[in-house]
Amino acid sequence: MSNNTKKRAAVVGYGSMGSWHIRHMQGSDVVTPAGIYDIKPERCALAEENKIHVYKSFEDLLADETVEIVVVATPNDLHKPQTIAALSAGKHVICEKPVTVSSADLQEMIDASVKYNRLFTVHQNRRWDCDYLMIKQVYASGELGEVTSIESRIHGSRGIPGDWRRKREHGGGMLLDWGVHLIDQMLGIVYDRKLESLYCRLYHITNQEVDDGFRLELYFEGGLVALIEVGTSNFISMPRFYITGINGSAIINDWRDECRVVSCRNRDEQNVTPVVTAAGITRTMAPRDPSNLIERFISRPESDVHDFYRNFVRAIDGKEKQIVTHAQVMRVMRIMEAAFESDKLRRPVDFNDN
Ligand code: NAD
Repeated sequence: MSNNTKKRAAVVGYGSMGSWHIRHMQGSDVVTPAGIYDIKPERCALAEENKIHVYKSFEDLLADETVEIVVVATPNDLHKPQTIAALSAGKHVICEKPVTVSSADLQEMIDASVKYNRLFTVHQNRRWDCDYLMIKQVYASGELGEVTSIESRIHGSRGIPGDWRRKREHGGGMLLDWGVHLIDQMLGIVYDRKLESLYCRLYHITNQEVDDGFRLELYFEGGLVALIEVGTSNFISMPRFYITGINGSAIINDWRDECRVVSCRNRDEQNVTPVVTAAGITRTMAPRDPSNLIERFISRPESDVHDFYRNFVRAIDGKEKQIVTHAQVMRVMRIMEAAFESDKLRRPVDFNDN
């Protein structure tokens, strides 16, 4: 596609993610960057240094009739007003995650998309991460037998980064920041079950105002329990994914690793050699006879995050449906709201997953 046929996209907020979008567009086959707007003069100066057009104001950006798509990459509390302003100016909008900070706000954004007849989606780019794609494949294959538990974790040790992410008024905290990705992924893995209830505890190790991590348990129909945990004071990381079913388990230790799957030929093994430890003996926890096990490794699949933009452009042209739908984004938003409620009440809460 030549530059003349690519759709022109402008970015509001030229911070770390806004500059990612611009670089991404520069390598895109479907969009080309029209320019940016940022309130910080130093970010505008940097854009100019990088030979990116800088609009004088957000209104100036919206007034550019050659711009078809606006990417909103500002702090989370600005997503709603800027998305609605861009939709009302006749632009299609890609909004950064989390789409906003409440389901009521999200409904207003969806309503604006309908009212102004423009497309609006959310940048759930982590649907293209290889670790997620491998676990999704393991779950769907059925090779573990009935899946009983899935654990998804992201651990770091640097606390909450940046400035606005530490503030409630800007929609800070790790549940909104990383939780939104991991919940969205979990709903993509467990594609076939409704969520019945959940329990969440927020962590406040380095910050009292917003959470700097959390532990969220999702209870799906049929007894499947999914654990999502984000920690920012973890100097040793737990595995990125661990999934277990009645006949096998799978693990991905690090998000750059392959996936190891171990399943058994015969669940009811008779000849068990007990494990004798310093203080006792156990048959229950004895390892299985290796001849009864099948071990395989799944290598990282091909994945191209440019498919997100390709899909959006094809959706604008009426050739495809949006991959990231309003219904999916709303379901994730409602789960985050229920998680905040559960933490406040210090108990599990029901979830109406209709
Ligand atoms: P950042 O602080 O690096 O950048 C935000 C930018 O917005 C700053 O340059 C700031 O000056 C600018 N800004 C603030 N108010 C503005 C306004 N009124 N008009 C124009 N510009 C304004 O933050 P970030 O890490 O780039 O995060 C931005 C958004 O991207 C957040 O919503 C975040 O959750 C999201 N994000 C997504 C991913 C992902 O993988 N999808 C990764 C990181 C961040």
